[in-house]
Amino acid sequence: MTAQLRLAVPNKGRLQGPNADLLSQAGLVYERTERALSAPVANVDMELLFVRAEDVCEMVADGVAALGVTGLDLLQESGTDLQVVAKLGFGSCRLMAAVPNASRLRDLGELEGMRVATAHPRIAGEFFSKQGVEVTLIPLRGSVEVAPKLDVADAIVDLVSSGSTMMVNGLRPIASLLESQAVLVARRSVDGLSEGQQQVVTMLQAAVAARRKRYVVMNAPQDALEAIEAIIPGIEAPSVIPLAHNGKVAVHSVVDATEVWQVLPRLKDAGATGILVFPIESLIP
Ligand code: AMP
Repeated sequence: MTAQLRLAVPNKGRLQGPNADLLSQAGLVYERTERALSAPVANVDMELLFVRAEDVCEMVADGVAALGVTGLDLLQESGTDLQVVAKLGFGSCRLMAAVPNASRLRDLGELEGMRVATAHPRIAGEFFSKQGVEVTLIPLRGSVEVAPKLDVADAIVDLVSSGSTMMVNGLRPIASLLESQAVLVARRSVDGLSEGQQQVVTMLQAAVAARRKRYVVMNAPQDALEAIEAIIPGIEAPSVIPLAHNGKVAVHSVVDATEVWQVLPRLKDAGATGILVFPIESLIP
């Protein structure tokens, strides 16, 4: 008998909520009772393990879980030899080197001999040695951005999404070390995974892909079809369905979510009417 498929997911913090949203969009049904360390999935033969985001890689590397959701930064910092089998499109941030606003330091080279506080000492260490800049790393677990104020460090390497935390703490970014987002990790690449594991990867990828698209439906005169097709080619080609009334068709297509608001007025100008825009739950190309 094969062991049950386990997916390790963040139990709290920034990645927990968006990950729970993705799992439910992907159709996984489970109940998470407070403080539960695991939960069975009702409609798929698998179990969720709720662990700290920074422990997910360890769980997968040790074989406790077959798959895990964590940040790309945490994967690289873990030093484990895991594969990214899907990018999940949330938890986007950048790992950046920053110095106090008042500091005269302008570029990385000037950090030579300085103290750099970070919760990512492995990534920062590899980065600075690749740049040929020798720094003293001060590993911290949190509140990295206050280290210069406390004179614990001259610079920091920390995660930034909007940049407002750095700004509030009087820090100025000088270099970007890594673009991070939530990722699905496994011990092997997709091709080496079991059928059950591949199905989970596909379900999550389909939910992620669907978020980037909208389903657009409209009516149009038959003779406007060419102009409409030029605006919305769809994934392959739009579906065109004849309507009961002469000379009119319904057109169904899939459009990039980021483009939908530019596309709608153009469709209207081309003669489309009754345009509807729907979210998509899953998309398997
Ligand atoms: P947690 O410490 O559990 O809240 O999770 C932190 C993880 O969330 C980081 O390792 C990143 O992968 C991700 N993340 C996304 N945006 C940010 C941000 N602005 N600051 C810190 N972590 C972020």
